[in-house]
Amino acid sequence: MNFVNPVFVPAPNIDTIVSLAKRRGFVFPSSEVYGGLGSAWDYGPLGVELSNNIKQSWWRWLVYDRDDIEGIDSSIILNSLVWKYSGHEATFHDWLVDCRNCKDRFRADKIVDNKCPKCGASDFTESRPFNTMLQTRLGAVADDDPSALAYLRPETAQGIFINFLNVQTTMRRKLPFGVAQVGKSFRNEITPGNFILRTREFEQMEMEYFVSPSAEHSKLVDYWVEQYLEWFASLGVSRENLYLYEVPQKDLAHYSKRTVDIMYRYFPEREKPWEELMGIAWRTDFDLSTHSKNKLDAEGKRINPDSTEDLSYFDEPTKQRFYPHVIEPAAGVNRTVLAVLMDAYSEKTNDKGETRVILKLTPQLAPIKAAILPLAKNKPEIVGMAKAIKRSLQPVLRAVYDDTGGIGKLYARQDEIGTPFCVTVDHQSLEDEAVTVRDRDTWEQERIKVSDLAEHLQKRLKPYPIAPPEAQ
Ligand code: ATP
Repeated sequence: MNFVNPVFVPAPNIDTIVSLAKRRGFVFPSSEVYGGLGSAWDYGPLGVELSNNIKQSWWRWLVYDRDDIEGIDSSIILNSLVWKYSGHEATFHDWLVDCRNCKDRFRADKIVDNKCPKCGASDFTESRPFNTMLQTRLGAVADDDPSALAYLRPETAQGIFINFLNVQTTMRRKLPFGVAQVGKSFRNEITPGNFILRTREFEQMEMEYFVSPSAEHSKLVDYWVEQYLEWFASLGVSRENLYLYEVPQKDLAHYSKRTVDIMYRYFPEREKPWEELMGIAWRTDFDLSTHSKNKLDAEGKRINPDSTEDLSYFDEPTKQRFYPHVIEPAAGVNRTVLAVLMDAYSEKTNDKGETRVILKLTPQLAPIKAAILPLAKNKPEIVGMAKAIKRSLQPVLRAVYDDTGGIGKLYARQDEIGTPFCVTVDHQSLEDEAVTVRDRDTWEQERIKVSDLAEHLQKRLKPYPIAPPEAQ
């Protein structure tokens, strides 16, 4: 195909990504053989690699590259008292309305212009609270035994708060320091939808950054917003597609004094394209004090008679004991996967109107780093050499061997799944021990000695650098 003066087109809507994701093995509708399960999705062979690469990038950036953050992995099901004292049992509500005309249910804050999103009518019931924590029962007990009630966590954060002292004492940490966790959370969303943007089971990457009550909390919120903007840039998400939303006081969660949401342009086709990608909240000392046995209310009564621990911190320099405040950047893995795919998507159309999809994933996120392609699959020497090259690259980078089509088709398939490099083994390779390396974005080809190949590719695959953290 001749791509003179190609026109690049970004993803026009989420549906384009849904179709690519299914066609190329990134994301499949879940339980499809039984007609699906409303808005549940499964990651396929390429999707699991992309999502793992995002999680690894996040973990490396926070837990390894910085010196002030530890990682943990807490249980999904916690003692249900955690959710009583965190405030989730009483307040983790969405406001629900019924459309009197079509009988469907919606989240009240998602109704635009008082019109039913399904039938267009404007006749709703009064809104009422609906607790979105998913319940389960533990143990072989009677169905109505209240002591068996448990919840699937709606956020990973509480697992961090209840482990604050464990981490602080075992790792001998002094403030400020953070604890990071990545894992599944569950919310019984009233209206899940828009592909992996809103599902009932999803993954979060949360970090709780513990600081003194006298720290400059608002400045720290700004600091983490800036850090995350850089991290998203390193994942290939364009700054133009991000927007900062200062959550108004009246909409803040019960624990928050300030929250800034980073919104992504998930709906480029709409007048209001933005939806939340992540939030950065100053959660005050609410969580550590609410889980502590010694914290007293205004009348001098213990606010938590069930806790057996006090999650306060003794500050050696000031000789003071206090409950640390927390700055929390909470990001969604699935929403990051979707933003990354939307930003990476591009269509190249030539002057004859022929179109090709190229997924411009950053090399660090690409599910496959190099595809090894034999030019002639009926030549055993070429096939043997290509397979040996694949095996030799595997210890240093993710490589695949593919001979399921002509070379043009193989290149097109790798472009569409974002593979940065195609390595072609041809007749000449048998003579000169060299291969052709083709670049996904420029389509330029370079001849490289097989003995230099691993080093050559590794150099070009280096993750995009993120500025080192400033001194705290
Ligand atoms: P929304 O207003 O969109 O429901 P939220 O403000 O309730 O989101 P948070 O409680 O701040 O979300 O959770 C932190 C992050 O977890 C969100 O920014 C998002 O990336 C992710 N997240 C939350 N709910 C879902 C969901 N149902 N599906 C996928 N990701 C989610």
